[in-house]
Amino acid sequence: MHPNAVLLRGGTVLDVDGERRADLRIGRDGRVAAVEPALEPEPGETVVECAGRLLVPGGVDVHTHLHLPVGAVRVSDDFLTGTVAAAIGGTTTIVDYVTAYRGQDPMDALATWRGWAEPACIDYGLHMTFTERVPERTIAACVEAGITSFKLYMAYPELLQVDDDVIDEIMRATRRHGAFVTLHCENGGAIEALRRRALAEGRTGILEHARTRPAELEAEAVARAAALAERAQTSVYVVHLSSAPALAEVRKARERGIDVIAETCPQYLYLDTSRLSDPDGESYVCTPPLRDPWHVEELWHGITTGAVQTVATDHCPFTVADRRAGLRDRTSGFADFTEIPGGLPGIETRMGLVWEGVTAGRITRADWVRLCAEAPARTFGLWPAKGNLRVGADADVVAWDPARDQSLDAEALHMAVDHSPYHGMTVTGWPDLVFARGELVARDGMYVGEPARGRYVSRAQPAAFR
Ligand SMILES: [Zn+2]
Repeated sequence: MHPNAVLLRGGTVLDVDGERRADLRIGRDGRVAAVEPALEPEPGETVVECAGRLLVPGGVDVHTHLHLPVGAVRVSDDFLTGTVAAAIGGTTTIVDYVTAYRGQDPMDALATWRGWAEPACIDYGLHMTFTERVPERTIAACVEAGITSFKLYMAYPELLQVDDDVIDEIMRATRRHGAFVTLHCENGGAIEALRRRALAEGRTGILEHARTRPAELEAEAVARAAALAERAQTSVYVVHLSSAPALAEVRKARERGIDVIAETCPQYLYLDTSRLSDPDGESYVCTPPLRDPWHVEELWHGITTGAVQTVATDHCPFTVADRRAGLRDRTSGFADFTEIPGGLPGIETRMGLVWEGVTAGRITRADWVRLCAEAPARTFGLWPAKGNLRVGADADVVAWDPARDQSLDAEALHMAVDHSPYHGMTVTGWPDLVFARGELVARDGMYVGEPARGRYVSRAQPAAFR
């Protein structure tokens, strides 16, 4: 697999140890062998000139949904197409969400996902989602299998939501096993009431999706999550934070010393609720919904002040046809906003979109690496193999060209989806070369690695527990 060692010469290395002119040697074992100025090529070594490039750790996307069945449809990317697109965009590790549905043995669900993930082209870990109370031995078995984070939903009562007593129980049990809980924070009961009222009053349009999931009900759930974590003396990770009031609750909790870790996603940093009124408004349905523009500004602020620690994607793409058909098996289209499959594509565009924050002067280059690689790797027990370029780390290395223009139109991207939430937008900054465990997997926007070369990563305890 590694016929040659590779010397990346003349670039600027940027990782947890700062930004400096240095050459980077990838060893035959697929790990970083040296990072030093002016390394001399060794016999048989492939030399790649990287002048003008930033050498950064491969992106770590800790929130993806590949292959996932949702109602009568399925997300349009499987583990093959999704990880190929990820690699092209500079992401070399993902952590995907397994869901154990009510009545299902979580270990069976895990086996299903492991099967789906076999074609993966980059390394992947898994989170486990519980939708009901589970015995502690199930948590122990998951941790044993390398799953050290567990998702719970505070919304979607009919399918996914668990009550606070279950959250409390699972927070305490996961803590005993050196693991922690990630939470979908929205007040599911209050949202149900709003949805029912909207339908009863004949308000069935796409915009109602956002109107029935107001920011206040996200904020309430974040506050509750923080209180539960405080009582259980544990950390809690808030997935896809989308609004200013919810961010304020994260800030308040952190000021009180509660370890609330917040993730946001590029869609909440670039898109706003006005898109739901577009002719293709159904293509912008995601949960939590897109918010008004002032929330977008606040989230950027949250990133720069450290209240938001990671940017992941919640990659969950559907074709236009599937969105228009709705979640039930019918040909006549969705009957109302509650039937639109929700979620956006993003696994390929995250690194480029967050880099736009650098170009725009909102964040530093170091912030970009921390948000997209270092912090997610540390938080989810992928460190020190992932998320940095220290000697001995996996040689997941992106040669990033800060001057490269990339269209975000669907036709210019590689995700298996026929629309792009960012169509018409061009970012400046995109990978030239992407190495994963020392193998060249993407070059100039093409996947050039072996198929199915990704490995399951058995995750260690998250940083907060070490
Ligand atoms: Zn998700």
